[in-house]
Formats: sequence, C-alpha cells, structure tokens
Amino acid sequence: MHTHSDTLDPEDWDALRTQGHHMLDDMVDYLAGIRERPVWQPAPDHANQAFREPLPSGAGSIAQAHDTFMNEILPYAVGNAHPGFFGWVHGGGTAVGMLAEMLAAGLNANVGGRNQIPVQVERQVVDWVRQFFGFPATASGIFVTGTSMANFISVLIARTKTLGVESRKAGLTGARTRLTAYTSAGAHGCIAQAMEMSGLGSDALRVIPMNARFEMDTQALQAAIRKDRDDGLTPFFVAGTAGSVNVGAVDDLAAIAAIAQENRLWFHVDGAYGALAMLAPDLAPRLKGIEQADSIAFDFHKWGQVPYDAGFVLVRDGEQHQRSFASPATYLRRETRGLAAGSPWPCDLGPDLSRGFRALKAWFTLKVYGTEKLGQVISKTCRLASYLADRIRERPELELMAPVSLNIVCFRYRTPDADRINQEIVADIQESGLAAPSSTTIHGHLAIRVAIVNHRSQEQDIDALLSAVMRFGEKRKVEPERWQGVGDAG
Ligand SMILES: *Cc1c(COP(=O)(O)O)cnc(C)c1O
Repeated sequence: MHTHSDTLDPEDWDALRTQGHHMLDDMVDYLAGIRERPVWQPAPDHANQAFREPLPSGAGSIAQAHDTFMNEILPYAVGNAHPGFFGWVHGGGTAVGMLAEMLAAGLNANVGGRNQIPVQVERQVVDWVRQFFGFPATASGIFVTGTSMANFISVLIARTKTLGVESRKAGLTGARTRLTAYTSAGAHGCIAQAMEMSGLGSDALRVIPMNARFEMDTQALQAAIRKDRDDGLTPFFVAGTAGSVNVGAVDDLAAIAAIAQENRLWFHVDGAYGALAMLAPDLAPRLKGIEQADSIAFDFHKWGQVPYDAGFVLVRDGEQHQRSFASPATYLRRETRGLAAGSPWPCDLGPDLSRGFRALKAWFTLKVYGTEKLGQVISKTCRLASYLADRIRERPELELMAPVSLNIVCFRYRTPDADRINQEIVADIQESGLAAPSSTTIHGHLAIRVAIVNHRSQEQDIDALLSAVMRFGEKRKVEPERWQGVGDAG
C-alpha cells in the first residue's frame, strides 16, 4: 500500500475509501447470503499454505490482503454465523455488531480508563446490566474477554474478601486457613481452571453431584460444606450454573443462594449464556435466585448475539471489587480535572490495563434491538429446542439423552456400537456442510449435542439437521446380526 511519507496513513484516502466500501460490501453479502453457504467446510491445502509465508519485510497491498481474506479465511471459519450451526455454545453475531466494531476500531479507544466518553458508554452498559439482574446501584461490572475470565475474576474477588485485602500482598502463604469452593459436576471446566490460576488449586474445588435434571444436588452441597467445616477448612465460594454447557440445565439458584447465605459463602453464578434469559419474560422465572448473587459471569457474545469477544462480570459489592484490583501506580495517578479525572476506571476492576471498546458493540446491540427483541430471540431458540425434542420423540430411530431445559438437545441414533456410530454421524454432518452439531458424553454415552444459540436459526434448519442425522444414521448404522462388539450402549 502506498503510504504518505513517514506515516502509516494512505497517500490516497479516496482509494482507501473505495477499498473499504468493497470490504464492507463483501461482509454484508456474506451475512445476507449466509444461508446459501455450507455451514463449515474443512480447509484445503491452499488455505493452510497461505498462512505459512515468510515474514513480509516490504509493503503489500490492502486489496491483496482483502483477496486473501475472502479466498482463504472467510470460507474456512467455524461457521457460527450460519443458522445451521449448533456446535458448542456459539453466538451468531449481527451486522449491527459488526458495524459497531468498525467504529470502535476506527476510534481506537483504550478503555482502561481516563476522562473520556467511551468509559461512560461502558458505565452505561454496566448500569443496564445491573437492571437485567436487579442489582443495586453500588454494584460494579466490566467487560472482559469471556466468561472464563469473568469466573476467574469472581474467584479472585471472593478470595480477597475472605482472606482480607492484605492477602493481595502476602499471598496464600500468609493465609492461616485453607479455602474450599463448590460447584456442580455439570459446571464448565473454567471454574476448576479459575481455582488453579487463583493459587487455591482445583483440589480445593468440591465437585457436587447432579440430580436427574442435571442440576446441582443442593443437599450434597450442604453436606460437603459441613464436612469441610468439620475438617477445619474454610468454605468460601459456591458457583451455581444458569445454563450448563452440556445440557442447558439451570441450578436451583434460590436454594444455593440460601445455603451460601447461611454459610457465609460468596455466591457466584456462571451464566455464560443462560444469564441473559433474564431478558425473556417466559424464561426469567427459571433463574430465580440470580438476583441474590454476589457476582455473575456471562457473555454478550453467546445469547446476546454481540460479536466476539464480549464477556462480562457483574459484582454486587462494587467496593470489594475495586479493593481486589485497584493499584496505586504513580503513572496511573488520578486527578479531579483533565484527562486523568473520572476515577474509578475499568482498570481498577480487573487485571487488564489496556482494553478495547467492547462496550460499544453491546451498546449498539441494546440500542438498536432493545431488550424485548433480544429476549424474543432467546425464547425462540428454546422453542426450537422443544421442537427438535418433539421430532426426536416421534422417531423410533432416535433417543433423547437428557431433559431439554433451555436450548440444548442431546440425543443419539439408536444402533449397536452407538458411541462410535454417533461420533461418525456428527463428523459426517459437519463435513457435509448441511449443519454443525457437536458431541458430548451423557452418563458415559456419546450424544449428538445441538445447542441452538443463533438468532438466525429456524425450524427449517432444525429439519435439515434432523434429515441429515437420519440419512447418515441409516448409512452408518450397524445391523445387530452383523455387530460383533461388546459393551453396546444402545
Ligand atoms: C461458554 C461457557 C463458558 C466459557 O465462556 P467463554 O466466554 O468461552 O470464556 C463458561 N461457562 C459456561 C456455562 C459456558 O457455556
């Protein structure tokens, strides 16, 4: 690209503008025509080779880089914008969010702090998030990468509260007691990882069994807390899950809140995707108890449809939150006027100093769609899950593997050697480009897992997935008389 003298700006802004419009048009075409594309396709050699090039020392052109993007990157992404994408728990994103990202990148705001309106935009979203969950005005929150980071931050705040703010300096060696935490066997693995990164260790995380609905067994929780206390340990943290990653179960948050209060534990909710069910009037009652949480971790990039990444942590006691992270570095000194005014800053609420303007795409999403529409989209994904569950019940070849609580359906094709065959079916469907489920293990058996998160998904996409399962199942299934294996799951 021809740049002007000794800067990185273009010599010809009009040419850049034209190029930018092409790029925008390409992405609008991509989103508008996404249904016509395969959901996913394996990357061919040329795409992999395109990213094994020598380090460029000389200049290239933006048009060429754009071509490479269109030919070698765009067709070979995961495909979560596609209405037929049902793998893991991925949000679909929106064109509105994409445009907001462009504005944020153009402004290049560093939203770690300082006296600027981008920080105020984030505070606005924090205020709206408080309202989602009925939290007080003294609650604080920040955008982070994702719920993994939000869970980690919550563990750190709870740890600092329990051991005292001096523990920030003294570390765990100064602690006279061993802290123990609690979550269900259905919790996401990042809770254990948060315990590891916090220095408390995942051995100190008690994994509480689940009931038949895949919710935390709250009696077992009470018993585990009692035992640890009897053993001289210090129970300090319990994480309930609103929308478990495997099956979409919602723990009895009100019961966990009561147990946490009685035992003076920090009550955290991992609501990575499920917490935003608060925006759907038909689903919100299922999350009763979340309003009592000490902290909530969730993602705007899953059910909120905001482009990646946009995790969020909300903390009831804003002062405790700040005490856990704020640092008195001289170069971050606060003033009452000028650019260094407006404390506290987001950098006082987490480990990040430089941070992007994630709040803008969430603000745009809330302003453009409003909470009612976002809630309707969330409800729709749950209706589609019920629709899929009904179709599965109608078909003798298929079997539901877990109750459908929200938007996740786990099922399998009935056949001898079911684990292997269903794994093949999942890969067949992914490679066909017709749909993209993922797999998981339920009670030791492999299940086809369908998580409906994308606002674009419709009944026709569920129908397409089902017919793909039936087709590949028919092709792959093992006739009992031909099957030699043992340990049949079906
Ligand atoms: C997705 C998910 C996470 C992890 O969130 P990231 O945004 O991917 O870091 C944690 N818990 C649950 C229940 C999830 O669904």
